[in-house]
Amino acid sequence: MKTMKEIVEVAVGLPVTKTFHYLIPEKMRDSLRIGMRVLVPFKGRKVTGFTINFPDQSPDGVKEKLLEIEDLLDEAPLIDLSMLRFHRWISDYYLYPLGEVIKTGLPPGLQLKSELILRLTQDGTTFLVQGGLDSVQQKVFREIERCREVPLKKILRIFPGEVSRDQLFSWKRKGLLNIEGALEGKEVRPKFEKVVRYQAGEPSRPIGRVSKKQAEIVGWIEEKGEASYAELTKRFGAALRSIRSLQEKGLVSLSAREICRDLSVRSELKSYPRPELSRSQEAVLGEILKGVRSKRFSPYLIHGVTGSGKTEIYLRTIEEVLAQGRESIVLVPEISLTPQLLSRFKGRFGENLALLHSRMGRGERYDQWRRIWKGEVKIALGARSAIFAPFKNLGAIIVDEEHDPSYKQEEKLKYHARDLAVVRAKQVDAALLLGSATPSLESFYNAEGGKFHLLDLPERIEGKSLPRVEVVDMKGQDGVLSEKMKAALRKNIENKKQSLLFLNRRGFSNFILCPDCGFTFKCPNCNVTLTYHLKDHSLQCHYCDYRIKAPGDCPKCQSHRLHGMGIGTERLEQEIRTLFPETEVRRMDRDTTSRRHSHLKILKDLDSGCIDILVGTQMIVKGHDFPNVTFVGVVSADTSLHFPDFRSGERTFQLLTQVAGRAGRGEALGEVVIQTFSPDHYSIQKAKDHDFLGFYREEIRFRKALDYPPFSRLVNFRLSGNSEKNTSTAAELMGKIGQSLLKKGYGKGIEILGPSTAPFAKMRGKFRWQMLARGVSHQYLHRFAQKLAAGLDGQLKRRRVTLDVDVDPVYIL
Ligand code: ADP
Ligand code: ZN
Ligand code: ZN
Repeated sequence: MKTMKEIVEVAVGLPVTKTFHYLIPEKMRDSLRIGMRVLVPFKGRKVTGFTINFPDQSPDGVKEKLLEIEDLLDEAPLIDLSMLRFHRWISDYYLYPLGEVIKTGLPPGLQLKSELILRLTQDGTTFLVQGGLDSVQQKVFREIERCREVPLKKILRIFPGEVSRDQLFSWKRKGLLNIEGALEGKEVRPKFEKVVRYQAGEPSRPIGRVSKKQAEIVGWIEEKGEASYAELTKRFGAALRSIRSLQEKGLVSLSAREICRDLSVRSELKSYPRPELSRSQEAVLGEILKGVRSKRFSPYLIHGVTGSGKTEIYLRTIEEVLAQGRESIVLVPEISLTPQLLSRFKGRFGENLALLHSRMGRGERYDQWRRIWKGEVKIALGARSAIFAPFKNLGAIIVDEEHDPSYKQEEKLKYHARDLAVVRAKQVDAALLLGSATPSLESFYNAEGGKFHLLDLPERIEGKSLPRVEVVDMKGQDGVLSEKMKAALRKNIENKKQSLLFLNRRGFSNFILCPDCGFTFKCPNCNVTLTYHLKDHSLQCHYCDYRIKAPGDCPKCQSHRLHGMGIGTERLEQEIRTLFPETEVRRMDRDTTSRRHSHLKILKDLDSGCIDILVGTQMIVKGHDFPNVTFVGVVSADTSLHFPDFRSGERTFQLLTQVAGRAGRGEALGEVVIQTFSPDHYSIQKAKDHDFLGFYREEIRFRKALDYPPFSRLVNFRLSGNSEKNTSTAAELMGKIGQSLLKKGYGKGIEILGPSTAPFAKMRGKFRWQMLARGVSHQYLHRFAQKLAAGLDGQLKRRRVTLDVDVDPVYIL
């Protein structure tokens, strides 16, 4: 037999690519297993790490030099070997430290780190509600309340120059704020409740006197068997003393049980019956069930227009997986987690469902994660991070609206959840369902190449027709709304139908311009124009949340003629109110939905028919199904079309198709009007004709001609730094190192584009450069990226510039 394990390999939760070896103290040897968290000494600090391996030897064979683990933080492993394999793949593909990858997959609050977190105290909340704060406090507190808890760093970033660390701590001393962040203090723990149980049998001692209240309590508990302490207090008032005394008398016992914190995302109570499948649904499901039953990796792409019954297919697939005793993950875009969807899942699967979602509080997320981890539920429904749900026996992974950009995490670990779904399904031999009305180019290309099994749901349920779409050329038109748009709105109001108006820009005016000297207000951190918000007369940066009061006069030439240019949802709402004073107009964007549940309220009002016209950003686009909405207007299709990204055409087509899909979900035929300055662009024309295939053919030709994905793979190397000079010098170096790597033969088939300043050259106070590497083979690109990062490392540290590697989402099948 092997000797006892003495050494453990640990991936620390820090941005270091290496893993480290530690000695296992005698007393931990029995309990330590792979996938547990340990506290280890690291460069004079203590940090959390994850145990990933028990090697026989330390790397250099000298175990005497190794340090000991300080503490073991878990009683059971948080991740199993199959999860670890998944994490290793991710770490390798996205060039991201393993410890940080593992951390990303765990609910927040499980990692011990020394970040300071702000929360309002009861007093702070009271002051915020009743007044008595100065204007800066008011702003800051409102922000904290909105998020419930915020890292201190974030507040300093949102209000630069307005609030300081010292101030925040002085408010803490006044009892208005909580600031926490000591190592253990932050960790989320399971929540317990007290349970009181009836003790049957002979009491051990003479009972003595029992008061009337106590008798009532015992009677009630006896009837129920057990009751939570909370229930008891609700019924009998403050009851702890009575219960304690009953406990002493041996009539009841008190114990604790773990409970699940209530979910802040609620489902509605409406029931969704389980329908007979349509013929095309039967056909599609039949194919999928073959895959599920094979227990092999079986990838499907379901191409079906909105309302064609995809969700019903997902539900049936999960039923089959459950029947096999296996588990399912369902990913939906962040914004689609509506009460409607949730209640549809709950209606079918009851409590066998965990929800993972970044809008939930830390405690709730932790509890939901634990239900999966402990095997209490077999379905996880959530946004992108649900791909890390710790199931052990997955039968299916479903990605709804697989083309949706919110599956890509844009910060830290820049993973794409849809790509990870492919990888995980493949690793564990599960079925994979990608569904969309507008599949991503990559997915459809994979389907054409036979890597995904393509399944079509060409028609809406019950043969409802797709809406009629009209494109209005805005060239030479004055005003925001064309006559066509106004007429359509008017007609819809007369017919007592509801309308949606979509504009992908919030605020009142896009920017403010001085017509006399040409001055515009720019964000000092991001160098983009500030958006004017009428409600609080502020100018805001939509990238970093920098905000100032809007001045009356031009700060440069004192002209009185400052002028709002461009239009946002706030102004659109106002115009619509003026145009149709008798109607109920509402707006849904980030500004009107910052309070918890506020967006649900708007959706509910829409559902109940209180709202005639809903104006909004892309929040109104997804996941909703309102039969009385028969008209959808797109105020400007140009914002997304001219975005500096090679996917802008695809994105526009997807958005327009999705928006149009909101119209006419009920009995009446839907109508859509799209306003644009580029009426002939194929993204717009094909969206008008509901012609995905036509769009795909045009777009794939463009991608091929310019050698963009899926014909190549891209890796973006982004540099950012506080100093303009250091960052540009680093960029120059990056270019040189890149070229010399190519010369040395490290870049077979690789081409370098740049370095150049990034599309947003200054963002959140950082200067940004980028360089793209394009190639066909992932292996070569990967090796090139590693060499480049290693070659640059010292140079970057010296100049305080950071490198971010962003691997463009493409499959690795
Ligand atoms: P998608 O996910 O493609 O938008 P859904 O599954 O949500 O489509 O279906 C659209 C609507 O049709 C929903 O209201 C759903 O309850 C209903 N539906 C789905 N399948 C059927 C069916 N076979 N018979 C009747 N109604 C159905
Ligand atoms: Zn900014
Ligand atoms: Zn001026």
